[in-house]
Amino acid sequence: MRFHIQTWGCQMNDHDGEKLSGLLSAEGFEAVDSVEEAELVLLNTCSIREKAVHKVYSELGRLREEKLRRPLVVGVTGCLAQQEQAALFKRAPHIDLVLGTMALRQLPRLVAEVQAGRARVMDTTEYPDNHLFPPAVTRRRDTAKALVTITEGCNHACTYCIVPTTRGTERHRPYGDVLAEVRGLVARGYREVELLGQNVNSYAGGCTFADLLERVSEVEGLEWLRFTTSHPMNFTRELARVLVTNPKVVPFLHLPLQSGSDRVLKRMLREYTVAEYLERLGYLGEARTRMTLSTDFIVGFPGETDEDFADTLRVLEDVAFDGSFSFIYSPRPGTPALRLRDDLPMGVKSERLRQLQLRQAELTQASNTRFLGRVIPVRIETHGPTEHGWWLARSAEWKTIHLSVGPGRDLPFGELVPARITLASPHFLGAEPA
Ligand code: SF4
Repeated sequence: MRFHIQTWGCQMNDHDGEKLSGLLSAEGFEAVDSVEEAELVLLNTCSIREKAVHKVYSELGRLREEKLRRPLVVGVTGCLAQQEQAALFKRAPHIDLVLGTMALRQLPRLVAEVQAGRARVMDTTEYPDNHLFPPAVTRRRDTAKALVTITEGCNHACTYCIVPTTRGTERHRPYGDVLAEVRGLVARGYREVELLGQNVNSYAGGCTFADLLERVSEVEGLEWLRFTTSHPMNFTRELARVLVTNPKVVPFLHLPLQSGSDRVLKRMLREYTVAEYLERLGYLGEARTRMTLSTDFIVGFPGETDEDFADTLRVLEDVAFDGSFSFIYSPRPGTPALRLRDDLPMGVKSERLRQLQLRQAELTQASNTRFLGRVIPVRIETHGPTEHGWWLARSAEWKTIHLSVGPGRDLPFGELVPARITLASPHFLGAEPA
């Protein structure tokens, strides 16, 4: 059977897609690049915002047409599957299987049941060992950096967030497992690893997260170590120390702020004030100036006033984030924020988002300009030039690099090369091999 997996959402979901692909490959299934070539299509979904959910339903509509023309097995996995469960069959009766986020390893069984003629099979059980996935099974995409799960789930309860429902409470992978997987990846040629979890810095798989970073960094042959994502209240002095002193841990931190107003943070149940967030950044000391820092913002949260939004702009200005991901608040079913009065007109929300993104683009431009003329190591992320003529690479500081390379010259995929930065735009750095 030929299968195709379409994934939306975060890196956790990307990595789940790699695990699902590995499970099917181990059963002798063949991965193909398009729906048209596939006999089994899995939609590995995201439900963090309404827009992501709309995309899934629109793709399901397309698959219904496809299924009228030929035999096709359609499955839904990921956060929307965990959230909606059997309701998905009602909304889209052509779905054959629904697989929850904590039941990944049940996929081959569900597919076998569909092949045996059972209609509408589902498993959304919260298997307690889902995070102990055998790394040998994972079928990794052809990427320069390998993703490694260290925790699943989240014990926080932010009022806008669906994740505690779709991913469950925290489960921590034992550090010995994590180390074994990283050693195996380095032996296969990976030089960069990103440790993943909804909240990596609350890690408790036999040591603290700061300890885990130190232990993983000792793996010989590993060059760069990243992690995502973090909750500010679990960001400790010890973690900051490792971040600024360990040469393998990249000088980049993504620490979601969400709002610059204490009143809004309280309604979001983020468990910190702006002052506490800034105190955590202060743990980085003067090393902060050598690092890049990014964050997340939600604008137009229920009850957000002009003053609240002005506070957010003020913090953006004061911290001068190198980058940020910002979105208009998206109400999610079953979350506590749904009970809050949300009467801010969409036009106001959109205007706030526009202002914030405009200022962020200027700050990112300034951040990128600081790299001009410098020679820095960058990791090659493509096997050749893109259609635009440049190679794609990435710096330790998480800057996207467009590398102009003379004709006939080849660059080593996944390896570090020195690059001289020649151009700074808000979205990328232009460079040439030094
Ligand atoms: S920390 Fe908050 S926003 Fe992040 S996953 Fe947990 S509940 Fe969601």
